Amino acid sequence: MSEISKVPPENHTILITGGAGFIGSHLADLLIRHGHRVYAVDDLSTGKQSNIQHLIKNPGFSFIRADIMDEIVMDRLCSEVDIIIHLAAAVGVQLIVNNPVHTIETNIKGTEAVLKSALKYNCRVLIASTSEVYGKGYKLPFNEKDDVLLGCTDKNRWAYAASKMVDEFLGMAYFNEYGLEVFSTRFFNTVGPRQTGRYGMVIPRFVRQALKNQPITVYGDGQQQRCFCDVRDVVKAVELLALNDGAVGKVFNIGGDEEISIIDLAEKVKTLTNSRSEIVKIPYDQAYAPGFEDMLRRVPDIGRVNQLIGWKSGISLEETLRSVIEFESRKSH
Ligand code: UDP
Repeated sequence: MSEISKVPPENHTILITGGAGFIGSHLADLLIRHGHRVYAVDDLSTGKQSNIQHLIKNPGFSFIRADIMDEIVMDRLCSEVDIIIHLAAAVGVQLIVNNPVHTIETNIKGTEAVLKSALKYNCRVLIASTSEVYGKGYKLPFNEKDDVLLGCTDKNRWAYAASKMVDEFLGMAYFNEYGLEVFSTRFFNTVGPRQTGRYGMVIPRFVRQALKNQPITVYGDGQQQRCFCDVRDVVKAVELLALNDGAVGKVFNIGGDEEISIIDLAEKVKTLTNSRSEIVKIPYDQAYAPGFEDMLRRVPDIGRVNQLIGWKSGISLEETLRSVIEFESRKSH
């Protein structure tokens, strides 16, 4: 195990992989605001230049358009930074169902590449994981120590969870075997402005549909529930964890505590946008793929993260929805 942490008490140089993505760009905003030096690497496959355009002229920020599988680029970046926040991944249920090979390979090979370069320069690494790893678990709320229950391997959906579990295992292996400072965070339905609806995410999809007075597409019977968490709360937790020695070697749930059914969410979006949209129910088979399995409830136990850094979400779902509506309205004009 390494005895001297490379992470000094302040003034950090931080690499965000997937830095032009939804969570990555909000994290860059926060870290820059707090005076850190930020490098953002992104191949813009799902991230967008427009997410970070406002940061480009900031002397504390550098954007590198590259694939994290590019060893030369990653080695050079790792030699400059003390912390890596690894967010680059193939995410979104729709993407997983449509492109399972791409999802599995991107998530596993990408994390392997990040960890290999991090090891050469002894960087601390935060690996972004997901509440999907709890799969079909039914004991609520989900705790980091719970066993996980995934569906069978002929259902693509579970490929995402499995790939992220391998990432978590790989990170733990680097910690246990080489003493690299690694830890993981399991994000539960992170939402907010800049999220794309292209890969399935429900809130940007509902908001766009409502703003255009198009049908709001509720999958299944809409009784499934989620706890949404505002991205601006999520990135606060990420920063505090990344700077905390006590996080190393552990996994943390990060999520909100306000549960809502998808049908109620559709109604709420419709009301907040004064929309004339009709709310329609679409069978899962049609929305995703035959035999698609959804989970009914997904609630995080945030005791561990709360105990270490005193974090809990603060922004209400209504406030988040209002900022997504404002963002999407601005975009469509
Ligand atoms: N969903 C929906 N309509 C859509 C997109 C998603 O009803 O247009 C549902 C989806 O089936 C799931 C929930 O909304 O039950 C949340 O979906 P999302 O993809 O945002 O995240 P997930 O919880 O599936 O990771």
